[in-house]
Amino acid sequence: MRQLETDYLVVGAGAMGMAFADEILMRDSSVRVVLLDRRAGPGGHWNDAYPYVTLHQPAAFYGVNSEPLGPGGTYLASGSEVLTYYEKVLRKWEDTGRLQFFPRCEYLGSQRFRSLMNRESEYSVTVKRKTVDATYMKVTVPSTRPPKYEVEPGSNLVAPNELVRFRGSPSDYVVIGGGKTGIDAVLFLLKSGCAPEQIRWVIPHDAWLIDRAAFDPARFVELGSQMQEIAEGDSIEAIMASLESSGKLLRLDPKVRPTKYRCATVSRDEWEQLRRVDQVVRKGRVQQVTRENITLEQGTLQLTQDSLLVDCTADGLAKRPIRPVFEGAEITLQATFVCQQVFSAAWIGYLESRIADDSKKNALSRPVPHPEFVEDYFATLVGTNENLTSGLKRFPLWFVRSRLSALHYFGVRAAFRIAIRERKSQGQALAKAKALIGIEDRP
Ligand SMILES: Cc1cc2nc3c(=O)[nH]c(=O)nc-3n(C[C@H](O)[C@H](O)[C@H](O)COP(=O)(O)OP(=O)(O)OC[C@H]3O[C@@H](n4cnc5c(N)ncnc54)[C@H](O)[C@@H]3O)c2cc1C
Repeated sequence: MRQLETDYLVVGAGAMGMAFADEILMRDSSVRVVLLDRRAGPGGHWNDAYPYVTLHQPAAFYGVNSEPLGPGGTYLASGSEVLTYYEKVLRKWEDTGRLQFFPRCEYLGSQRFRSLMNRESEYSVTVKRKTVDATYMKVTVPSTRPPKYEVEPGSNLVAPNELVRFRGSPSDYVVIGGGKTGIDAVLFLLKSGCAPEQIRWVIPHDAWLIDRAAFDPARFVELGSQMQEIAEGDSIEAIMASLESSGKLLRLDPKVRPTKYRCATVSRDEWEQLRRVDQVVRKGRVQQVTRENITLEQGTLQLTQDSLLVDCTADGLAKRPIRPVFEGAEITLQATFVCQQVFSAAWIGYLESRIADDSKKNALSRPVPHPEFVEDYFATLVGTNENLTSGLKRFPLWFVRSRLSALHYFGVRAAFRIAIRERKSQGQALAKAKALIGIEDRP
């Protein structure tokens, strides 16, 4: 067994592991990191994504703090750009001699790991500071796991990755899943020349979508935050409807009330494209796929011999149980700002580099689990706001300088304008959000 010594042992070189490692390496030039991953390179789930994947939120906010990604604005990097970017970041840190990366290695627990290519090759690490779990989000993408429903052998069901190399000429397509992957698959089919009438889209539960304009620095002051709408709304339904009217949220069909909210983000153009698909199947989850039909919770869908089914049902980011981020010699990376996982991981890295006491660090980084239902919109808003307010009081400059922070792009002046404009509604909105979903004030 080989012996290694390091300050931080980071398990998982996905987006969160990279953002954390980058931050602590940047903050303290004496820090050394051992980083390992089952995969052959950094970037986590991006390595298995479908070729037409892009970020759904601006590249300007994505990646690590020490290295820009993309030309700025609302540009969305593609999956391959994201992977090239992570390779560059990794090489940059490897070249300093302060980061050692171990690809195709599996963590065994107790600071030991083993090569997946040679089971005899095992490492034991003396960790001087912390062991960091950067695998906790358990991201899944369709190409890495079988669907949860039953599939008859010989059925024409493919992962979204297969759409780019499928050689047949399907008569029609059935896209299964209404999340970010389903959206991408529908947009890809339309862009590749499919007529909307050729697509049937199975959406078990409609979700509210974020209008990407909300992330556009040029529209930040005009759109403002959601505080006004929440402060003035009487019910969850009324608030969601007014967020829709004010251009912050979108839904596929104005006649259907979404029950989910998972932060999927689209532009108005993409939304208009999606709305061209009329055959949206709202009959619950798929239970079984055969060569002739699809059985859903509330009905069946007939297939032809040439129907091609695209499985987009993997739960990319699941809602994970909360655990403290800082626990003695262990750090568990989790989102502390809603749907901003990389920003959260960098924030956790920053706190680690600035504060010694675990309870003080935990007070500034309470986990905000990934939202799933409409109610989670309010819970995650409250949690994010509390972390942001306490973080800004303590380390305002970090939020302004960090390229992963929206504040960096929106600018302090604009943020002040919004804060003054919304000074009354903010307190009311947070109290209303807590009351609507029954959460108590922080101790
Ligand atoms: C399609 C898609 C688009 C997205 N777009 C955006 C966006 O636009 N903006 C945004 O902010 N976020 C976006 N996200 C979310 C974000 O990119 C990350 O997915 C999220 O932060 C999770 O990253 P991660 O590092 O936690 O997980 P992963 O990417 O899964 O990385 C974890 C790594 O740990 C490794 N690992 C697991 N167990 C072990 C073990 N025992 N030993 C060794 N290695 C192990 C895995 O191989 C993996 O590489 C998107 C997510 C998806 C799925």
